[in-house]
Amino acid sequence: MKTWVKIFIGMLVGIAFGALFKDATPYVVPLGDLFIKAIKLLIVPLIFSSLVTGITSMSDLGTLGRISLKTFVIYLSTTVCAISIGLLVGIVLHPGTGMHLVAPVVDKAAKAAPSIAETLLGLVPSNPFKAMVEGNILQVIIFAVLMGISINLIGDKATPVRKFFESLAEVMYSMTAIVIAFAPVGIFALMAKVVAAYGLQALLPLLQVLLAALAGSLIHVILVYGGGVSLLAKFNPFRFFKGIMEAIMVAFSTTSSSGTLPVTTHCMEENLGVSKSITSFVLPLGATINMDGTAIYQGVCAVFIAQAYGIDLTASNYLTIIFTATLASIGTAGVPGAGLIMLSMIMSAIGLPLEGIALIASIDRLLDMLRTSVNVCGDAMVTLLVAKSENELEEAYETA
Ligand code: ASP
Repeated sequence: MKTWVKIFIGMLVGIAFGALFKDATPYVVPLGDLFIKAIKLLIVPLIFSSLVTGITSMSDLGTLGRISLKTFVIYLSTTVCAISIGLLVGIVLHPGTGMHLVAPVVDKAAKAAPSIAETLLGLVPSNPFKAMVEGNILQVIIFAVLMGISINLIGDKATPVRKFFESLAEVMYSMTAIVIAFAPVGIFALMAKVVAAYGLQALLPLLQVLLAALAGSLIHVILVYGGGVSLLAKFNPFRFFKGIMEAIMVAFSTTSSSGTLPVTTHCMEENLGVSKSITSFVLPLGATINMDGTAIYQGVCAVFIAQAYGIDLTASNYLTIIFTATLASIGTAGVPGAGLIMLSMIMSAIGLPLEGIALIASIDRLLDMLRTSVNVCGDAMVTLLVAKSENELEEAYETA
């Protein structure tokens, strides 16, 4: 049986278990926690070793520069599309109309979005080990890129170090496969926990936001990802989505795109034939700077809260949302609940009452499952595009 089928069954059994045996659910919860810990333990050594290896296999700096620029530009463009779709869906579907909430005194001392200089300086670690211990992925990426470039610069003298990282990367791939084999059980427990915690009652009043976010996500996935995969990468979109199914399901149940990284990497290499030098660079970057699902959610929620409080948003408000959301998505890690914190930043940037966050927070876990799945799809799509444009996609997979 294929792994994604097993995971899917685990998910369904988990949903049924959580609904039927609410009281027994706490007994299975540790299995879910164990799975999350197991995939988290892979992240730093996996990214570090595979990224160093990816860079050393690209020996010339021109290639590296070209791929970085391409990756960055595509990531940013998909995020801008996502936030625009989120805003449009919010405007068209009116999820918050009719709630008639009264705005409390607006919080003037709200935090501003981080400045561009702050975001950039934050990329460079002053202590690489601290960055690893704290799991600061962007800083780990920067250190790994520097390490890879330095290895390339000194050539033969660096052979033992290069070989060491190549071998470490292989070991980490093998460890990833072990952890993925445990995914069906872990995901069963994670789903049981969510279903037991959220009754239908929590959902009904906010069903409209959930549906609007779902509509926005579907539009984005079909138009931007489906379109990008078939028109730009000339790749069958059904094969693409099937190939990343395991990653989508792990993202859905763990709500962390950084946590899903080992699985996404595995899917892109094993199922879609993308070379390791591309996945090792483009995916970790995407897991931290590219959050399309989160951007859609932020667009929908900002419009929802404005409508719920009867506040009219101006054109300049919309532009501010697009700008802040794009910047915020670069500076925030792909961990559970991060999007909610970013939402408060966006709301303060346009002066919406932060109390509105409480409404969203009650169902945030469910929204997070949706947005994290979209985030991971987006990372995978961009990786495929970059791989295709660099001829780093195995032909056998394209035509299969
Ligand atoms: N949980 C999301 C992710 O890891 C981030 C978010 O909360 O929006 O991609």
